[in-house]
Amino acid sequence: MEELRSIIRDIPDFPKKGIVFKDITTLLADGKSFHRMIDLIAHRYIGQKIDKIVGVEARGFLLGSALAYKLGVGIVLVRKPGKLPYKTLKKTYDLEYGTDTLEIHEDAFQPGERVLIADDLLATGGTVTAVVELVEELGADLVECAFLAELDFLKGRDRLPENKVFSLLHF
Ligand code: 5GP
Repeated sequence: MEELRSIIRDIPDFPKKGIVFKDITTLLADGKSFHRMIDLIAHRYIGQKIDKIVGVEARGFLLGSALAYKLGVGIVLVRKPGKLPYKTLKKTYDLEYGTDTLEIHEDAFQPGERVLIADDLLATGGTVTAVVELVEELGADLVECAFLAELDFLKGRDRLPENKVFSLLHF
């Protein structure tokens, strides 16, 4: 696990001054690490009833599709505005400065389908909270939100339903 942690690099002042960005592209580009990351996360869910993975644009697609393949289930995309071709449900959420919007196809789930949300990193929790709301408003059941990494000091998990967060790595 320490090997996976150490391959993620810090990029100071990205995307703006004062923020230290966790760059996971180094992990993704290393075949052994990518494989291990997916196996370790998938291991937690093998044998659980999961109907669909929800991948959050854009790095969540990478994690989400590999997990979906491994678990033998489908993947649903949550995207930035204007990218999805069919009718969508939208959710706007607050950022430090301004707002952002995410969309999902309104026919993404059958009622009661059990859904695992996947993204690369949990920071303040604003993004994934919006995704949870989209999933629940469409009548699906949230199994858990799975992340490669979590920035513990930002306490993003406190905004999410209790016991519904799993992060492989903690910073
Ligand atoms: P939050 O909404 O929890 O504050 O931010 C999480 C979202 O922003 C995720 O979709 C994640 O991809 C992105 N993000 C925020 N900070 C970082 C970071 O330091 N590294 C990476 N890889 N993604 C980040």
